[in-house]
Amino acid sequence: MKYADFKYERIEIKEVQKDFKELINQFLDADSFQKQCSIIDNINKIRDEFISMHILSELRKCLGVDKELYRKECDYYNEAEPIFDGLVCDYYKVLNNSKFKEELVEKFGEQLFKLAEMKEKCVSDNIVVDLQHEKKLVTEYVDLFDSVTREFEGEELGIWDFSTHINSNDRNMRKHAYENETELFKEHEEKMHDLFDRFVKTRHEMALKMGYENFVEMGYARMNRIGYDKDMIAKFRKQIQEYIVPLNSELAKRQSKRLGVDKLKYYDEPVHFLNGNAELKGDPKEMIDKTLKMYRELSNDTNEFFKHMVDKNLFDVEKREGKEEGGFCTFIPKYKAPFIYSVCRGTIDDFVVFTHEAGHAFQFYLCKDYDIPEYCVPPEDVCEIHSKAMEFLTEPWLEDFFGDDADKYMYSLMSTGLSKLAYIAAIDEFQHFVYEKPFATYEERNSHWRELEKKYIPHRDYEENDFLEKGSYWLRQSHVFWGPFYYIDYGLAQITAFNFWHKAQEDREKVWEDYMNVCRVGGSKPFVDVVKLGNLKSPFEDGSIEEIANSIKEYICELEDRLK
Ligand code: ZN
Repeated sequence: MKYADFKYERIEIKEVQKDFKELINQFLDADSFQKQCSIIDNINKIRDEFISMHILSELRKCLGVDKELYRKECDYYNEAEPIFDGLVCDYYKVLNNSKFKEELVEKFGEQLFKLAEMKEKCVSDNIVVDLQHEKKLVTEYVDLFDSVTREFEGEELGIWDFSTHINSNDRNMRKHAYENETELFKEHEEKMHDLFDRFVKTRHEMALKMGYENFVEMGYARMNRIGYDKDMIAKFRKQIQEYIVPLNSELAKRQSKRLGVDKLKYYDEPVHFLNGNAELKGDPKEMIDKTLKMYRELSNDTNEFFKHMVDKNLFDVEKREGKEEGGFCTFIPKYKAPFIYSVCRGTIDDFVVFTHEAGHAFQFYLCKDYDIPEYCVPPEDVCEIHSKAMEFLTEPWLEDFFGDDADKYMYSLMSTGLSKLAYIAAIDEFQHFVYEKPFATYEERNSHWRELEKKYIPHRDYEENDFLEKGSYWLRQSHVFWGPFYYIDYGLAQITAFNFWHKAQEDREKVWEDYMNVCRVGGSKPFVDVVKLGNLKSPFEDGSIEEIANSIKEYICELEDRLK
């Protein structure tokens, strides 16, 4: 089936409720393990149907198809989803208490039951209204950030439109652009913080109702942190501070030398070379041909995968009137179909879509036949590994896309990855502060954030930008609004991807095999097991990051020499 043949119809939550309840009763009454298995099957069919229609409505809204209609459908699902989540939670409860649990674990593996436990820790009937309220806040967030604009260089720009100018080679231009973008945040600062504060208080209250001291533990459960806790994450951040932060400061010094400036300012950070960052060669159509060639040569599996994506029209990357901004990959379980969404602009980001998002799509493709939905779509800590690692495993094809700029691209990929790690650690620590002290004021949040920047990004210099200097940078990070504690997953994935890259320097074929093993298990194993399966070191282990940091440093200095 091609994408155009996928049918949308609204799934009435009342029907779902009725069917779900009946199946749960049947599950409780079932007198054999086989009967319970077939009920699980039926429950999963209902779940797949609901999730697929929800995803299709969102996708079509983003694509700009019958916008009004699908917007309404999305609003409907936002209301219905917490109820649906509650039903899934009911199912998880009976699953975990099944009299045939031993056999079920034997058949489906432990991970399903662990995931079930996590869900029980963060969803319950008495917080459905709060969850619905939280969903509404997400919509409010999207509307607020999408609606604000400012005139810049004769154009009316939205809040996310400044990036091209901020990445400009012309120092005055990027400074000017950054300042103007800052003004936009300044103008709407109060509204933004008020919204953020409502997010925090809503979550805090939910956590109290669930019997927690604050939202932190509940947030961890929501992110399915299985097999590690906040102390282990703190250990990971500590290693970043010890081995990555000093390396970043050294790279910043080299960067300022390359750019011929006395001191690197905040607006210089995105530009790595005096004559500009790497540029993508060719238009979107050529990109697709080159991507086909890349995945054909990478392996038989990737060849089959990408051909499938092209044949079934499972991506939409064109820039069009009415199509929303964004870049993501999703999975429509009913049709066992991954889908890649982005808006190509002829910049490096277009390439990232075909490596990063295609990494997600590749894993979905490999896991599409798992009967258990939890195993097709892994939690974020695991799924970002597939995408991040793909960005590095496609290294041998960079010349096709970047020509002479391939080394420059690789340099930026590595150094941006390193600085991102430090930034991620700061955001993660910040969110612990936010939810441990839910009644902190805006000023307290800002001053704590500025302290964290000094700890993790000590070379950052905001010059005379008062707004950023007082500590308001974090308002730019969308995840702190809609996805608390999500951000560290990018860090876990980044270090794991660096680990893959490091090992690929010695034996590419072996690393590809390891990567395939990691993708094939999908969500059926927790993060720590997945890392082991990939023959990689756990980022929570002391000493796991030092070796990688040294290897990157050596490589990146060599690259820099070549680029001189
Ligand atoms: Zn991703």
